Amino acid sequence: MSKFLIDKYKSLEAYTPGEQPRDMKYVKLNTNESPYPASKKVVDSISAEQIEKLNLYPDPECRELKLKLAEYYGVEYENIFVSNGSDEILSFAFMAFCGEQTGAVFPNISYGFYKVYGDLYNVDYTQAALKSDFTIDVNDYLNVNKTVVIANPNAPTGLSISLDDIEKILVSNPDNVVLIDEAYIDFGGLTCLPLLKKYDNLLIVRTYSKSRSMAGARLGFAISSKAVIDDLNRIKYSTNPYNINRLTLLAGAAAIDDSEYYNNCCKTVAETREYAKRRLSELGFEYLDSDANFIFARNDKISGEDYYLKLKENGVLVRHFSDQKITDYVRITVGTRAQMDVLFEKTEKILSEV
Ligand code: PMP
Repeated sequence: MSKFLIDKYKSLEAYTPGEQPRDMKYVKLNTNESPYPASKKVVDSISAEQIEKLNLYPDPECRELKLKLAEYYGVEYENIFVSNGSDEILSFAFMAFCGEQTGAVFPNISYGFYKVYGDLYNVDYTQAALKSDFTIDVNDYLNVNKTVVIANPNAPTGLSISLDDIEKILVSNPDNVVLIDEAYIDFGGLTCLPLLKKYDNLLIVRTYSKSRSMAGARLGFAISSKAVIDDLNRIKYSTNPYNINRLTLLAGAAAIDDSEYYNNCCKTVAETREYAKRRLSELGFEYLDSDANFIFARNDKISGEDYYLKLKENGVLVRHFSDQKITDYVRITVGTRAQMDVLFEKTEKILSEV
């Protein structure tokens, strides 16, 4: 820490991204990326001619991309906001809709960045405890008079909340934004998009990082009422008007044209996830019934940390969280069937040695 850092940031605990070690080639099942490459149309969209245009700023309005997204999701252009990864929308939303005046509530086991943004922006937030089966207790979010932030499916559990429960939360907090982070919705679960017409306080956050194989391009988007999107734009134009680079804008639009490819990738991931659940059961694991592209699992025979470390020694990376509440578990990203078979082969070996 330098002597220049101002006091309010001195105790800030930053988000820790999943590790990206370079010492050897790993089977990487630790950051919920897609195991499948970007589609051919996406690759072709970034031509040499387009790369040459990098001397020019990108369109700050991101018009072409937003038009495509609006058409695909059946909403108006004014209902769409795009960002440099969905983390940026979360950041803008915490900035715009939470603070000391309007607090926030989110689950005590969820995407780690919610707490980081809460701290960064001095938000008076509450972390509502999940039930013992790791599901969300809807009562914790009714009439709270705070901004509500829920990942659906939740991470790292993979469990979904019902649309009925989301609607109850929307109805009971008409003066607050209800942010539903649908980062993993394309792998299962039900989108709350149909509720958008009825509720102007619903803010849906999506990402290209998982189901559209573009984690490296950094692209996220939000769908909400025009007024909420205007607020996000107010923050964007006050921080970084050119938040999406030219190449990502092109890739993002091309990916929408190739939705069939991505839908098939998601279907395959969901099938592999169900296969992986069966294999995990056979190996004596308990797991939560994930709708996402990862599985949260534990085994009585080995601690979460030891299993993670032994897998790493064997060339397979999964994610282990130090949080005591979930320390028995590891989060395993669903890769290709071949990658999962490596995981299971190494797991059998590890379990036979403990
Ligand atoms: N929300 C959730 C629930 C996530 O797990 C992630 C990925 N780490 C994100 C948002 C952010 O994804 P990105 O910034 O890559 O769009």
